[in-house]
Parts: sequence; C-alpha cells; structure tokens
Amino acid sequence: MQHKFPAPRIDALPLMAPQILAEPDNVPSPGVIRLNLNESPLPPSPRAIAAMREAIQYSHRYPDHSCSALAKIISHRTGIAADQIVFGNGSGEMLVAAAAVAIQPSDLAVLPQPTFPPVGKNILLAGGEIVPVPVLGNGANDVSAMIDAISDRTSLVYLCTPNSPTGGLLDRKDLSRAADTVPERCLLMVDEAYHEFGTWEGGPDVLSILAGRKGPWVVIRTFSKAYGLSGVRLGYAILSDTDLATGFSKMRSGFNVNRIALAGACAAMQDQEYLDHVLEQVSTERDRLAIRMTALGLSVFPSAANFVLARTKTPARPLADHLATHNILIQALAWPDELGSIRVTAGTREHNDAFLAVLEDFLHREAIS
Ligand SMILES: *Cc1c(COP(=O)(O)O)cnc(C)c1O
Repeated sequence: MQHKFPAPRIDALPLMAPQILAEPDNVPSPGVIRLNLNESPLPPSPRAIAAMREAIQYSHRYPDHSCSALAKIISHRTGIAADQIVFGNGSGEMLVAAAAVAIQPSDLAVLPQPTFPPVGKNILLAGGEIVPVPVLGNGANDVSAMIDAISDRTSLVYLCTPNSPTGGLLDRKDLSRAADTVPERCLLMVDEAYHEFGTWEGGPDVLSILAGRKGPWVVIRTFSKAYGLSGVRLGYAILSDTDLATGFSKMRSGFNVNRIALAGACAAMQDQEYLDHVLEQVSTERDRLAIRMTALGLSVFPSAANFVLARTKTPARPLADHLATHNILIQALAWPDELGSIRVTAGTREHNDAFLAVLEDFLHREAIS
C-alpha cells in the first residue's frame, strides 16, 4: 500500500506559524515593537528571574514531572486538589489535550467566533467538527446562542473569558448558565489565559461557579500573559475530577515542563505585589490606548484583557502592513467584515505612543488622499 506523507489528516490542517520574527542572536527582535502577541510589556518579577537563575545550574537533571511545588501553590490558592491540576509546556499543550480527550471522530465542538485560532485546529486534528457561534456586540461569548447550538453530537463547549481577540468578559450569570445548562455529556472548557486581567477588572471567580456543575469541566490558565513568562512556556489545566485529569496527563510527553519555568512560576505566584503592579500598568495603558484610538475614529471593543480590538474605517490589513514598515507589529483580523479589525497589545507607554503616532499619521494621510 502506498502511504501518503504527511498523512492526509495532517495535510488538511491549517499551518499556524506564530507571527514572530527570527532571532539570529536569541534576543527578541531588537528595534521591533511587538504589540501582536499579547505578551507582557514588562519582564517577569525580579524574584522569578532570581529563581530561574538559581534553577539553571540544575539543567543537567530532568525536572519534576509532577510539578509538585507549583501544583501545591496553585492547589492552596484555588482549593482544588493537586491531582486535578495538569501542566503543559504552555497552555497550548492543554488545548491539544482537551480536544484529544473530548473529541471522537465526527463529534462537534461549539466555539465562539472569533476566538483563539489553535483551539479550532486541535478539534480538527482530533477528527471533530467546529460549530462557530458569533460573539456578542461587546465581544463576549454569546453563551445563550452557544447553548442553543449544542446538539446530540456535541462533546465539547469552549468558552474564552476574557475572549481573545475581542477582549470581552463573561459575567457570573452567563458562566452559571453555562455551568448549569451545558449537558453533562459535554466537556465544558473555559480558557482563562487572561484570568488575572479579568479578575483585576472585577470578573467573576470561574472556579467557584464551575464547582456547582454536575458534568465535567476544565479551566485553562497560563503564565504567558500577566506573569510575563511566555518565553519559558508554562500553562496548566484545572480539571473537575481525577479521571479527567488522568486523561489529560496521558496526553503529556515526558518532562514537558522544564525546571526553569517551574522555578520562575513558583516565585512569580508568590510575588503578588509585582503582579498587581503589572496589572495596574497594563490596564492603565490599555484604557489609554482605547481612548486615543476612539478619538482617532476607530470603534474599540471593551476589553478586560491586555489588548484592545478595534474596527477601522479603512481596511485593517494595509494599516497593519504600514505599521510593520515602521517596525511596529500588530494583528490584522479578517473579522467582522471585509474591512476587518486590528488587535493591539497594550505595550509600554513609549511603545503605545509610537503606535499611536504612526496610526494617526496613517489615518490623516488616508483622509486627505
Ligand atoms: C495566549 C493564549 C493561550 C496560550 O498561551 P500559552 O503561551 O501556550 O500558554 C491560550 N489561550 C488563549 C486565549 C490565549 O490568548
């Protein structure tokens, strides 16, 4: 028999190359202003950096596969047993595990549209099909419509709060509704990559709401965003029960979480003061961006995350390309219509000002041409 490589199942997947520049010297893109990946504009906590330096000297030893020190801290914070927490090399790995655990070929997954693109890819990889449900006008997941979209074939319902790329936050009422109404035969997944920002904005405690759910659930979190540890890769899944946790654990490859990330994450979680400082600074800059972009005539979605999404009056793609010629990277989305929209990460004050200056100049030139 003639085999085809890549296997057709893989060949059919979209190629998702993160929008990132090559780093010949392993230094992040000197001279480039990165407002395209929702990274933290601030380095990690000095305590996290010290802990990572300390950990480096043990690099010849495999890390603790059980991630016991970090599991203990998270368990203490959340009240969830350590054996219901599973770690990944970035939470992206947990999104792969969730799809693999929840989806059998031809099962359906209900997703908000738009949302974090890898989620859909993982569902396709697992042999499932996507049922997209447009977000509300405020950019939050439309929980009622998503519940209405559930059928007998649905095995996974994915919520993202605050949602990327729109920034919309779910309130207690909608989350409770999902927890109570999504059938017990479906895995209810809540991606809280922007959890710390959502909480800072007064968002509800997702874990306490899910605690009342009868069916299975999973919450996904990461150290990549508010904690500023995207470069060392660490994320985790909190599961409703140990059987589900075992399923997620089976999807892990050996030693997928490195000891530098573990040391950094433990120290970062114990430096609440620094986290608050980041949340304060990033949310202030995000709101300032939103106000300035609104004043320039863009329609800005309300955001509880570390970025803003805005609709432009001229096509988004040429604007993003123009910014790139000034070494300023943002994301252009082909949503919600042919003009599209732009997603801009809240950077440092200086980087945001550089973005705003080029944006203003571009819009001015568009207006007079
Ligand atoms: C950034 C992000 C993630 C994953 O990030 P990792 O760096 O892999 O932890 C997951 N979900 C959403 C919605 C994100 O924005």
